[in-house]
Amino acid sequence: MSGRDVFGPAQRIIIKVGSALLTDAEGAIKHEWLDGLVDEIAGLRGRGKEVLVVSSGAIAVGRRRLGLGAGPRNRTLRQEESQAAAAAGQIRLAHAWQRSLARHDIPVAQVLLTTEDTEDRRRYLNARSTLSTLLRLRVVPVINENDTVATEEIRFGDNDSLAGRVAQMVSADLCVLLSEIDGLYTADPKVDKAAEHVPVVAAVTPAIERLAGATKTADGSGGMVTKIACARRATAAGCHVVIAGGKHVQPLQELENGARCTWFTANAAPQTARKRWIYGGLKPAGRIQIDAGAARALGRGKSLLPAGVTGVEGGFQRGDPVVVHDADGQELGRGLVAYSAADADLIKGRKSAEIETLLGYRGREEMIHRDDLVLTEGDQA
Ligand code: GLU
Repeated sequence: MSGRDVFGPAQRIIIKVGSALLTDAEGAIKHEWLDGLVDEIAGLRGRGKEVLVVSSGAIAVGRRRLGLGAGPRNRTLRQEESQAAAAAGQIRLAHAWQRSLARHDIPVAQVLLTTEDTEDRRRYLNARSTLSTLLRLRVVPVINENDTVATEEIRFGDNDSLAGRVAQMVSADLCVLLSEIDGLYTADPKVDKAAEHVPVVAAVTPAIERLAGATKTADGSGGMVTKIACARRATAAGCHVVIAGGKHVQPLQELENGARCTWFTANAAPQTARKRWIYGGLKPAGRIQIDAGAARALGRGKSLLPAGVTGVEGGFQRGDPVVVHDADGQELGRGLVAYSAADADLIKGRKSAEIETLLGYRGREEMIHRDDLVLTEGDQA
């Protein structure tokens, strides 16, 4: 197959690396492989791309260090043992990424998340804005699940799902799941010779989900099922997903050269998908009235500042969806608000510079950031 323009159209890219690629059977980090991938990440950044890494491997590395039996494919650990292993392994994993990225002078940041951070909208807004700030500062965030604190209820349990959530949270354009297997097959290719490779999936249907059950991978705790779950979530958020074989030393180059892989195509741009979610997918928790000057500024593509707010209604929390309306009650748009109703009421009509004095903490300049706001007229497409 000839090479497809894999990275050209994408601006914000997630690279997810499975434990089985990054560590050997003994649970040692494969530095040479990591360096090869990091050289490619540096290349993508050189082309102006933003890159986020979702890296597994903490438990595999940590269990070896703690003498809990080496290797990701070894005996199943008890929950407290995996959590201890994750704690011991994560520091080594982060260090390995830091060392490798430092060869290109690329700054790195460790971000550990649980599902609560992506579901609770207050925390979601914080995580989203921290990640965007890191990207703006040209840092590569290296993300993993916060395995040491995650209980059954708040665990992702696998980093494919985590990558899907991150894709949605940062409005990524492309998520590359580097795996031991080069895509989705109609049956498990290890046991069924007639298994056929599926190059493109235009929609994640129940039939596709059934196929996923048929293909096994040795990667960490995930498998094809979790990769499909990632694809379902990410494509709905406007992010393309590709499952690609990662064993090669320069797996991204292989992908560009046309190596076998499975594409899951998104049918809307990430910003469009996010706007639809904000506008139609959430129930408003309150209303904010704004003056004519602020309404004009919103029309010009600006954020909503506290100075333009004239009224606050409802018991909303930070991160909740609210309706923005004018003095006549006419709805102008909807957005995720950066302050609770009580705080919004205290800072309404005031300059952003006064926020700290009024609230006792330095919040955001905007009441609703432009990226979190969708106008009723002509902004939802
Ligand atoms: N968060 C786990 C780790 O770093 C990996 C989860 C997975 O295998 O997907 O060890």
